[in-house]
Amino acid sequence: MIPAAFEYARADSVEHAVELLGGEDAKLIAGGHSLIPLLRLRFARPSTLVDIGRLDGLRYVREDGDRIAIGALTRHADLARDPVLAKRCPLVAQVAEGIGDPQVRHRGTIGGSVAHADPASDLGTLMLTLDAELVAHGPDGERTIPAGAFFLGPFTSALDPREVLIELRIPAVSEGVYIKHVRRAQDWALVGVAAARVDGATRVGLTSMGATPLRAAAVEEAVAQGASPADAAAHATEGTEPASDAQGSAAYRAHLAGVLVRRALERL
Ligand SMILES: Cc1cc2nc3c(=O)[nH]c(=O)nc-3n(C[C@H](O)[C@H](O)[C@H](O)COP(=O)(O)OP(=O)(O)OC[C@H]3O[C@@H](n4cnc5c(N)ncnc54)[C@H](O)[C@@H]3O)c2cc1C
Repeated sequence: MIPAAFEYARADSVEHAVELLGGEDAKLIAGGHSLIPLLRLRFARPSTLVDIGRLDGLRYVREDGDRIAIGALTRHADLARDPVLAKRCPLVAQVAEGIGDPQVRHRGTIGGSVAHADPASDLGTLMLTLDAELVAHGPDGERTIPAGAFFLGPFTSALDPREVLIELRIPAVSEGVYIKHVRRAQDWALVGVAAARVDGATRVGLTSMGATPLRAAAVEEAVAQGASPADAAAHATEGTEPASDAQGSAAYRAHLAGVLVRRALERL
């Protein structure tokens, strides 16, 4: 389908993007790999697209004390081969490498992936699992949103419509694993599981197991109390609400979650 008509404006700075977002019903576009399909289906009909895709100043990965700062315009392919991540948080590179196909990885951005708040987003789950800090810039300046308060519902985040996500800050993590079950190669996760050891504690996140990316709090609690991977994984579906759709039933997703959580904990 052909999108409904819209105006197009290219931002030359974050401040300019915020200014352009002040227009009625304006929407940011970064890599376009989630938004353009929605425009074509006419699920999204913004009056103006504000293109931030050429703000190369938001395309970086750098060490920031005990954390790693990632610019929101950093593409999945950049994450997959970044030397700082390879050394200090290889889990991010592993997740990015498994997103879609090479075209998607060379256009899609981490900021777009997270801001889109798709419960099937691999990077959304990872940011939640790592307790990332998400830095937004809006008309009143900058604010930091913890990942735990960011995802409000399917495709709904804590970002104000006039805010631009500019940076994601994560801890350095040497032990981590992401497993996703896909129906075809280079596909979205039917269910995904992230597990990481951060400051001595085990954290577990789930993809496609509810309306938002989720933390498997009951699993984390069981591990903290010394449960084996199999025993902890028995709690994998607590607090989840997987959907039934053309890809798989809720019962199948629940089964997968248990299996994948156990495997992820075994591999940690
Ligand atoms: C064929 C295909 C396969 C895919 N497979 C996977 C997969 O396996 N796993 C996975 O996780 N993802 C997958 N994706 C999604 C892909 O990762 C997208 O690139 C990503 O979800 C969106 O990033 P983007 O830069 O393209 O954002 P866009 O499409 O440009 O924007 C998405 C949304 O985020 C908003 N936005 C963008 N940037 C910002 C910002 N900096 N601040 C505030 N709001 C912003 C936009 O307004 C829009 O609402 C796939 C996509 C396709 C087309």
